[in-house]
Amino acid sequence: MTHSGVLSAAGLTKPELTGGKLAVHTPVDGSALGHLHVHSNSDVQKMITKATAAFKVWRAVPAPRRGELVRLLGEELRTEKENLGRLVSLECGKIYQEGLGEVQEMIDICDLAVGLSRQLFGLTIASERPGHAMRETWHPLGPCAVITAFNFPVAPWAWNAALAFICGDPVIWKPSEKAPLSALATLKVFEKALAKFGDAPADLLQVVVGERDTGEVLVASPDVPIVSATGSTRMGSAVGPAVAKRFGRCILELGGNNAMIVAPSADLEMALRAIVFSAVGTCGQRCTSLRRLIVHEDIYDQLIPRLKNAYETLSIGDPLDANVLVGPLIDAAAFDGMTRALAAVQADGGKVSGGGRVLEETYPNAHYVRPAIAEMPSQTAIVQQETFAPILYVMKYRQLDDAIALHNDVPQGLSSCIFSTDVREAETFLSAVGSDCGIANVNIGPSGAEIGGAFGGEKETGGGRESGSDAWKGYMRRQTNTVNYSRDLPLAQGIKFEI
Ligand code: NAD
Repeated sequence: MTHSGVLSAAGLTKPELTGGKLAVHTPVDGSALGHLHVHSNSDVQKMITKATAAFKVWRAVPAPRRGELVRLLGEELRTEKENLGRLVSLECGKIYQEGLGEVQEMIDICDLAVGLSRQLFGLTIASERPGHAMRETWHPLGPCAVITAFNFPVAPWAWNAALAFICGDPVIWKPSEKAPLSALATLKVFEKALAKFGDAPADLLQVVVGERDTGEVLVASPDVPIVSATGSTRMGSAVGPAVAKRFGRCILELGGNNAMIVAPSADLEMALRAIVFSAVGTCGQRCTSLRRLIVHEDIYDQLIPRLKNAYETLSIGDPLDANVLVGPLIDAAAFDGMTRALAAVQADGGKVSGGGRVLEETYPNAHYVRPAIAEMPSQTAIVQQETFAPILYVMKYRQLDDAIALHNDVPQGLSSCIFSTDVREAETFLSAVGSDCGIANVNIGPSGAEIGGAFGGEKETGGGRESGSDAWKGYMRRQTNTVNYSRDLPLAQGIKFEI
């Protein structure tokens, strides 16, 4: 299918894609997919006003009925899965299978949210006073801004929006300026669900097109009580304090520097497959990409040569080609970042395999690379940073405690794993003295989380949690209620106050 065929199959029309100031390029060949009209700061303010009006209506709709809208969204996404998956692939460069996987995550969170819409429950709590009942109730909080990154242009929106909608909150979505088309196509899918739903208020979902400054308007507004922002740690360190300053609530999903420990008892066949998928998938541009491999010295010489062989035969190219496993980097800046990191590796005494630019003649305006393996003498400063590219740093260990210390000795804390068939090692890794990340797996790579669990990480990853478990509480306000059904008025803590 041609690029314009992909765009029109996803419902995007010529007038929407022409005449604006924001040029959107595909990383596949660097060509322009469109020039979008950008929202001004006053447009964004008007959107906030509209979202506030929508909130006044939506919060009073019973939650299971709100769930019906999300059920319809899930149905529409099932119908549009291929079209949207292809557009995701074209716009951000991940292979089509991963584009489909991203849309499947949207469907999965819709299913989860529909069930949750009947389960937004609080606790009942024993009161110390006779004839009193105490409980917790959860109420809608208000408009929720969802700021998303280029590498997952639709799924993180859905993790937030499906929950926000059932919780009674309208959503204003600020997609990455590098991948706004998938957001516009998703808005169309949502509008189909809205039409079938019938009586939802206008402006439940609005999409802001623009760069960082449009996001800053949402971040600064006291009328946006929840800001859920996915992106770099640099972005989070600007957004977090700005939202805190006005006492808003922030859900931050920032960078990772994810590692795998491969223990001597590991099933090396499984480890090898998990390493390759999680290190080169999305061309190393997942927040959960495997970046650091900590291998026991006894198996190092068995594992690393096989890994290098697997890397040499990886098919790299157009992500929409079914035979390709590794697509392009997002842009020239990402390629420069990778080049700088590999230079730092050399300066630190590391040994690099792979890592060069490929397919330059076919795609002079795109940036395809062979994923790199960097064998490091130690965990130097470059290893402790997140370079958003397919570089896998490899280090050796002798004692598990040392491996865990090395594992945790980075500023980020998103995802982690151990490959081991020794229950003592595995459970130690998951224990209080083990991995310090938000996600810790055994015999599974660090990427590709399921919807049912809470997703997010610690330290510079920002501390936010999205998706499953009780993440829905982030989109509601908690209220403690005490009801006196007696004929007396006893005060708490036995205080006497007679008038
Ligand atoms: P980025 O930080 O450059 O941009 C992310 C979004 O934030 C964009 O929409 C951008 O316009 C907006 N933004 C930037 N500064 C802002 C500000 N001051 N106020 C408001 N909005 C602002 O990130 P990117 O390059 O698009 O994405 C890659 C990064 O995202 C990586 O670090 C990756 O690890 C991270 N990421 C994290 C997760 C997660 O769930 N933890 C998921 C995907 C990506």
